[in-house]
Amino acid sequence: MSSPQRNKSKQILDAAAAGKYAIPAICVYNMEGVLATIKGCEAKRSPGMILLFPWAQQYSSLGLATFAAHCAKAAKVPITLHLDHAQSAEAVKMAADSGCYDSIMVDMSHYDKEENLSRTEELARYCHERGIAVEAEPGRIEGGEDGVSDTGELEAMMTDEDEARRFVETGIDWLAPAFGNVHGKYGPRGIQLDYERLHRLNRAVGKDVRFVLHGTDGFDEEILSKCIDGGMVKVNINGAVNRHWVAAVKKEGTLTGLIEKATNDMQKEVEMWCSLLKSEGKA
Ligand SMILES: [Zn+2]
Repeated sequence: MSSPQRNKSKQILDAAAAGKYAIPAICVYNMEGVLATIKGCEAKRSPGMILLFPWAQQYSSLGLATFAAHCAKAAKVPITLHLDHAQSAEAVKMAADSGCYDSIMVDMSHYDKEENLSRTEELARYCHERGIAVEAEPGRIEGGEDGVSDTGELEAMMTDEDEARRFVETGIDWLAPAFGNVHGKYGPRGIQLDYERLHRLNRAVGKDVRFVLHGTDGFDEEILSKCIDGGMVKVNINGAVNRHWVAAVKKEGTLTGLIEKATNDMQKEVEMWCSLLKSEGKA
């Protein structure tokens, strides 16, 4: 299988692994999110990633992806474009063929284990042939996220070492392990992560793949630090940034006022995450 060695996203994450920091990967839904991510990373001299969901493809065809790819290329720091939670072969192939994306999460975790593995392998090859890096999720990361099909009714399954190894054998570049992390809001049980498991997984496959953290709502510096210790180098951030857009809509009177206020508040949040993840000054 050809591997996208010169892929910019892979280079960013490999550098983060070597330097023991993580890259803010911001889920965006609109132009303001794209601009806030880039401006925030530029202000902090941090590399960064823009994440779109397949929802963006349904909503605007390749409009938002084309805009994001253009802005990422023009940024003064390394910024790449990633498709998060692509849950069908059609979504993966549309993104891979578009020329917009540097990386794609092939999320076949709604299939049973064997089918998840075989579909992941086939789609990873498709992406690699086009120079695109691939992320996959072996266990089911519980919960639902805005723009992702709600699979919350599926039983949460934590990733074990055997499973992680089998996923690595499919040829993926990055792995999103399930170790107690949950998409969206953490319930009354609070945030309970199995760091022991994360370290075991890191010892088992950490030299072959990079780790991606999903479900970071409410994570503080201490938790993030422990996750980075366990090998996490790409940290997906959604609600923390996008709730500023929703707040601005409720407050601002004019359209330009709203857009500028939302972008600015989201940018400040991105800057804070660059500090938390220690990626500040690494671009
Ligand atoms: Zn996710």
